[in-house]
Amino acid sequence: MIRKEYLMTPGPTPIPHQVSLAQAEPMIHHRTPAYTELFVRMVEGLKKVLYTSNDVLTFAASGTGAMEGAVANCFSPGDRVLVAAGGKFGQRFAEIAKVYKLDVELYEYPWDEAADPEVIARLLREKPDIKGVFLTHSETSTGVVNDVKAVGEAVRETPAILVVDSISGAGALELRTDDWGIDVLVTGSQKALMTPPGLAAAAVSAKAWELIEAADSPAYYFCFKKARKKYNSDSPETPYTPAIGLVKAMSEAVELLLAEGMEAAWERHRTLALCTREAVSAMGLELFPKVLERAYAVTAVKAPEGIGGGDIVRHMNRVHGVIIAGGQDRLKGKIFRIGHVGYYDFFDMAVALSALEMTLKELGFDLELGSGLAAAEKTYLEMARK
Ligand SMILES: *Cc1c(COP(=O)(O)O)cnc(C)c1O
Repeated sequence: MIRKEYLMTPGPTPIPHQVSLAQAEPMIHHRTPAYTELFVRMVEGLKKVLYTSNDVLTFAASGTGAMEGAVANCFSPGDRVLVAAGGKFGQRFAEIAKVYKLDVELYEYPWDEAADPEVIARLLREKPDIKGVFLTHSETSTGVVNDVKAVGEAVRETPAILVVDSISGAGALELRTDDWGIDVLVTGSQKALMTPPGLAAAAVSAKAWELIEAADSPAYYFCFKKARKKYNSDSPETPYTPAIGLVKAMSEAVELLLAEGMEAAWERHRTLALCTREAVSAMGLELFPKVLERAYAVTAVKAPEGIGGGDIVRHMNRVHGVIIAGGQDRLKGKIFRIGHVGYYDFFDMAVALSALEMTLKELGFDLELGSGLAAAEKTYLEMARK
């Protein structure tokens, strides 16, 4: 029997066939002009995707590698940093900072809300020795998206640097690294960048380089200074063997994104999010985030009374071949998450929503089949007409 699978998780995400094919090409050596050309094309393209002219460094690692790199390179043990955490990935920054023995000032905000830029501004005023502010752009575990621009305005005037995890944001959501004053922007390949997992990137500002020059936490593989020096040499390369196949893949994916245009890509994600949102509401379900502004990467939905979020995820996977994500940590069983970051169009969402309706019906939830799909189609036509 033929069984198709539909990957609708917020990472990893589906790979365009051009990107898969690029990865399947014959292996090349990384100390050759052919590789250098490929690598520079990818990095320079990535700068356009991220709206930055800062140095962009890449590492063979999942996104967390670049998060750890940011902590290790910019700070010294004992440095005071402010971590805004409203979900699993915000917490990760705090965990990494503690491993590197930083003095972590934790600003925890409710998981269904966004960080308040004014609170961050106040904490920076109260504790002027804070050297860095850590913020998650798109908090994938909750669906909430932070107002990075407003936080950037609060941090810009202080000596602190702003470190932003946009691993599930970059490529999907409006992101203007330089204009918004982001000093270290970290991202990863397997979300909106439509590439298999395993490549991480960090865009580093002049303000961050000043801290990096003075910092003395240990870093070897993730050493930013070494990576910058190699990239800025006569033949730009990485200090160690790069993930050549992934660089080929990401180079292709970046070209696809730039051909679409970043603003068009952001608008596509917004459209898919609004269609999904309208659909689940029409099915009689409730969205998890209270703050829905900018929340266009992941749709997090509360599991209905009496049905576990995990049951919905498992049933959709086993019976219908549609893979979505459950809740993590304190949200386990309470929510499920539909991803639309990356290589998605409306008809992918129609598949997911159809499977969700049938799943809910089969699990005993009272709904009219087609009600969600109809709402999504209506929203899509309205938005397409504008
Ligand atoms: C996916 C993701 C990460 C990184 O996870 P990895 O498994 O290391 O790729 C970090 N932050 C956010 C917001 C993410 O969505």
